[in-house]
Amino acid sequence: MLKIAIVGSGLTAISAAKVLVKRGIKPTILDFGNELDSERLLCVKKMSSLEPSYWNKKDMKFIYNNSASHGSGSLPRKYAFGSDFFYGSSVISAPIECHGPPLPLSYAKGGFSAGWGGSVLPVDDNDIGSWPINNAHLEKYYKMILSDVPYSATTDDLSRVFPTYSNKVIAQNSIGPHTDILNDFKKLIPIKDASKLIYGKSRLLVKGYNPYKESGCKYCGYCMSGCVYGYIYKAANDLDNLIALNLVKYVPGVIVNSVDEVSKKVNISIIDKHKKQKKIEFDRVFIGAGAVNSTRIIMQSKKIYNKKIELLSTLSFVVPIFRFKKIPGIWPNVSTQPSVFMEYKVNTLSNHWIHVQLSPHNEFLYEKLGIDDDCKGVVQLIKRWIASHTIIALCNISSDSSDNYTLSLKKSLKDSPSMLVSRRKINIRAYYAVAISVLKFFYILLKSRYFVIFPFVKSSIKSGSYHVGGSLPMKKKVEHENDTDLLGRPKGWNYIHVIDSSVLPSIPATTIGLVSMANAARIADQVEL
Ligand SMILES: Cc1cc2nc3c(=O)[nH]c(=O)nc-3n(C[C@H](O)[C@H](O)[C@H](O)COP(=O)(O)OP(=O)(O)OC[C@H]3O[C@@H](n4cnc5c(N)ncnc54)[C@H](O)[C@@H]3O)c2cc1C
Ligand code: SF4
Repeated sequence: MLKIAIVGSGLTAISAAKVLVKRGIKPTILDFGNELDSERLLCVKKMSSLEPSYWNKKDMKFIYNNSASHGSGSLPRKYAFGSDFFYGSSVISAPIECHGPPLPLSYAKGGFSAGWGGSVLPVDDNDIGSWPINNAHLEKYYKMILSDVPYSATTDDLSRVFPTYSNKVIAQNSIGPHTDILNDFKKLIPIKDASKLIYGKSRLLVKGYNPYKESGCKYCGYCMSGCVYGYIYKAANDLDNLIALNLVKYVPGVIVNSVDEVSKKVNISIIDKHKKQKKIEFDRVFIGAGAVNSTRIIMQSKKIYNKKIELLSTLSFVVPIFRFKKIPGIWPNVSTQPSVFMEYKVNTLSNHWIHVQLSPHNEFLYEKLGIDDDCKGVVQLIKRWIASHTIIALCNISSDSSDNYTLSLKKSLKDSPSMLVSRRKINIRAYYAVAISVLKFFYILLKSRYFVIFPFVKSSIKSGSYHVGGSLPMKKKVEHENDTDLLGRPKGWNYIHVIDSSVLPSIPATTIGLVSMANAARIADQVEL
């Protein structure tokens, strides 16, 4: 059997692993693989064995202590079970020097999906005009992926531009706040031109409540802080299944430093968990270490020192919205994942979609307002009234209108690992993009009598975004050292494939996870073995 390695265990690595397994391969997964600390894990296990009404306050305080709600100014950080373990930073074997916000990278088992939001949309062909592939190439893989993960979606107006790519879709919250919001929109801001403004029920990788089986989501109100029941899809769920079925070999605690092709074989240089440097030989490797670390591995392997490579990123902003009519549902007996997606365009900015996720209930808001079930009185009543009229909108702007990072690798003088240096200059264009997008959003919502609460708008300009890539762009004609071909192969290599968002030539606003997974599955499927 061919010896195939996959670097990483995030969304893209596991998508590729699942395809390779279907092709009769047992891949070796080389991963750093940080996990949630044992104390929190124990607490999560205990809570997952109980119905939410039996959870005790001490356990809840411990794992739902979310510092994300305490940030001010720029966008706060989202935690999982009260921990930031899935955010990576500089490590001895892969040091980083950041000038500007920290680089978005993960060293977790399952990567960023250990704490992501689980919102998904395919891309619109219009947003990927600069790519050498389009939806015709990806369609088969969207379907393959979405048929094999918990998926909540419905066929509605949004499907006119963004197909659901599944015929057995069930929607989370078949009735709920989204019905009211969508009814308001339909009445007051009807879709006249679906190429400019469109909205519909959110698409989520979540196991929604199934009334016939009495299984799935328990409406506990803590989706943004981590689902103890594991209903929000994570790559580690699939990885654990693959390990249990002996379909993959999982090697955690490993840092992949570089790769090289020698006589039709790939040599992978690693630092193992005992800090020993080793070389392992494989027939082929798929690198899904996340955009930052895959770029680092390729720069290190090709000895690209002191040269700037651009890492594209989206811009995000969060907007609180006031709705005069009460929002149905009472937290915490609700799902706090986004209920509604809206896509709109700002002509003066670009012809690309701006993506909005509307969450009518959000535990951060309740925490920020200091709402406590145990406290009674007028102040608590007023706070609850405010919360029941507030919707949180998370909005993304595509990489074409955003500030990007530059990455460069500084060769170390001695035998120690090279330093990855990142810079992110804040320029006026990003401020303009956020300002004009917020104004347009305000104008759209005004017609539906929803009001943007301007003083509380926050943006990712200073904090940076987690939707990054484009540093090793796929091109029909590979010219530069950091270009890749349609199978993610850097210049001059045949058996080394990069499969994560670093190979996407631009980063659309409409979420990055699904398209990255589909592209990784496409590469793993189309490679000749
Ligand atoms: C808070 C948050 C919320 C998000 N919400 C959404 C959302 O709702 N929808 C969406 O589409 N996207 C979302 N994203 C983005 C999305 O989660 C990421 O784009 C996606 O998970 C990246 O997957 P990946 O496979 O590229 O790798 P990553 O998730 O970056 O994982 C990298 C993997 O590689 C391993 N690794 C890294 N370097 C090395 C090395 N040198 N050697 C060995 N192993 C290595 C790590 O251990 C890890 O397993 C969110 C991100 C964050 C942080
Ligand atoms: S509401 Fe969210 S956190 Fe609670 S069970 Fe449902 S998906 Fe999980």
